[in-house]
Amino acid sequence: MLEQFKVVLSHTTHPGNIGAAARAMKVMGLSRLSLVNPKKYPSAEATERASRANDILANAEVVTNVEEAIGDCRLVVGTSARTRSLPSKLITPRELTQLVVDNQHKMPVAIMFGTENSGLTNHELHLCHYHVYIPTNPEYSSLNLASAVQLISYELSLAFAEFEQLPQQVIPDNEQPVSREQLAGTLAHFDEVMRLTRYLVPEQEKQIDVRMNRLLNKADLTLSEMNILRGFLRSVSYAVKRAQQQD
Ligand code: SAH
Repeated sequence: MLEQFKVVLSHTTHPGNIGAAARAMKVMGLSRLSLVNPKKYPSAEATERASRANDILANAEVVTNVEEAIGDCRLVVGTSARTRSLPSKLITPRELTQLVVDNQHKMPVAIMFGTENSGLTNHELHLCHYHVYIPTNPEYSSLNLASAVQLISYELSLAFAEFEQLPQQVIPDNEQPVSREQLAGTLAHFDEVMRLTRYLVPEQEKQIDVRMNRLLNKADLTLSEMNILRGFLRSVSYAVKRAQQQD
């Protein structure tokens, strides 16, 4: 089950942190690593710090944007040292493991970690269903990136024994939760139809995009529900185009 967790490191500056994160994952049994635009990678420093976790680095995917890294994931979680002004629900690592145990059908799970200086960007934070905060000294709350990976991986590995004991849920394909890629496709479809009907005006574009993303993330869409929404959007688009032709 631990292979269902994808650690996503976004815009990592120091290659040593990538190596140390790989090591942190491997000792806890995690294996899927995705690197979004690392500043310096591959690098001898990363290999050195990975110690004997080089297989994790060798199998890591390197992508240019975060959407690519999380496309196949059904649950997207962002980690943050900042607790204020986060767009989604804030949970602890222990609450995250409980959430995953209770939602085993929402796999794979992406766990995103931000760049060393400034953390996850607002755009990245908005893509998340939940935000995880590792409780720390309120006056000094920022852990080293690889230490944060270590703590989250540890909590997940503790819960792993529980996963094994739970009966597997059998869910028909249509009732599976949508992946981030399917959700992004639905958002793009809304955007297209909102433009067609002129509901979307340039001044509000950004705000509506952010809110629609939040709404659909909260809706916990299944594939069959997504198909209804998209079928409806197609019918609106058809009706508008037909009316335009008659004008
Ligand atoms: N100054 C940045 C800290 C970045 S540390 C900020 O305010 O977010 C690099 C990354 O380590 C963070 O983006 C996050 O992914 C992780 N991290 C560090 N401390 C954390 C904490 N207390 N809880 C959760 N994640 C943390």
